[in-house]
Amino acid sequence: MGWETGISWTWHRRGVAANRTELDLLLLEAGVPLAALEAAGSQADLQWLLTRPKYGFVWQDGVVYQRGGSGNVIDGCSKVGEHEMSGCLGCYAAISDENKGRVAVPGWHAKDAAQNIKLRPRMLDELLAWQRRLEKVDQTRRVFLDSMSDLGHTQIDSLDPDYRQRTLEVISRCDRIEAWIFTKRPGTLAAVKGYPKNVVLGTSVASWLDLRRLHTLARVSQANPDIPLVASLEPAVGPMGTLPWLELPQYRMAIFGGESGSHIRPLRLEWAEDVRRQTLAAQAQTGIALFEKQTSAHPNEVRLLLGGCYYWQWPGELYPAIQASAETAARTARLQHLLSDDDLRAMISRYPDMPELAYHWSEAAAL
Ligand code: SF4
Repeated sequence: MGWETGISWTWHRRGVAANRTELDLLLLEAGVPLAALEAAGSQADLQWLLTRPKYGFVWQDGVVYQRGGSGNVIDGCSKVGEHEMSGCLGCYAAISDENKGRVAVPGWHAKDAAQNIKLRPRMLDELLAWQRRLEKVDQTRRVFLDSMSDLGHTQIDSLDPDYRQRTLEVISRCDRIEAWIFTKRPGTLAAVKGYPKNVVLGTSVASWLDLRRLHTLARVSQANPDIPLVASLEPAVGPMGTLPWLELPQYRMAIFGGESGSHIRPLRLEWAEDVRRQTLAAQAQTGIALFEKQTSAHPNEVRLLLGGCYYWQWPGELYPAIQASAETAARTARLQHLLSDDDLRAMISRYPDMPELAYHWSEAAAL
């Protein structure tokens, strides 16, 4: 097969330029209609097409990356805390489901979990179908499982005590898929024994107030020593404090990002700088990867830039910092919403036990 648009663009698979055959197969596997590709008349057309969520690609600075897919074996969720520092406060899944009228009780409050959470076993069949397609094209794919819910939710056990185990059993039969499972309820997932080896587990931390989740999830290593762990430090709505990378070397990746969408809470770049500094310092000893995503912006995601560059590393693939184009830098500068000095000072007064802002604490205190 072939398609020519006359447009010059680069294909990267996990950051590494792939050959054209691999690209063709991946586009096919992702279900991108070839006719639409051939009809794309400009780079903007291609970008629009390939970055539709269903195809799972990301476009950054003229480079296309394979993002992997996502699939949900659960419908619905409920918020873990609704205070100002909760990562669930602006949950995009809740907003999206409410906008589509798919929610029994809007708000995804904890008390409504029984009405709002349903099992979605047809996704298990879908995973098996993906496995068959991937075998056919001899490819693998990273799948973000339950991007719109939480496999650690205990409501699942009330609906079907075997469902979580059944999900893992299906994943174990899909060796072409690397299933990334993120939770805000790490205690539930840490208690599971016998994860298949194609699972990556992660937990989300929105500020130093959630740091204990990293330790809780790490308990999973006692029964599953080979499962890699990921720390999702997003949406970052406060400083992270001291990250336990040396104490918990099973964390293979730190993802950092600000909040985007209609409910953004602004970011302080010092928080991002501190995560970068700590993670790169630990990298030499543990190999932990750093993946920096978006800054805090509305309505669309905007690249987080520190010193004009960003890191897009994966476990075992520790690429150097990527220099952003002047266009991206200008867009970031124009659209990002940063926490003002006044709001930072107010935050410090509300949280007297906020970790020492080693980064610019003296400046913040002197505001
Ligand atoms: S745990 Fe995740 S999916 Fe569930 S409410 Fe919170 S942010 Fe949304």
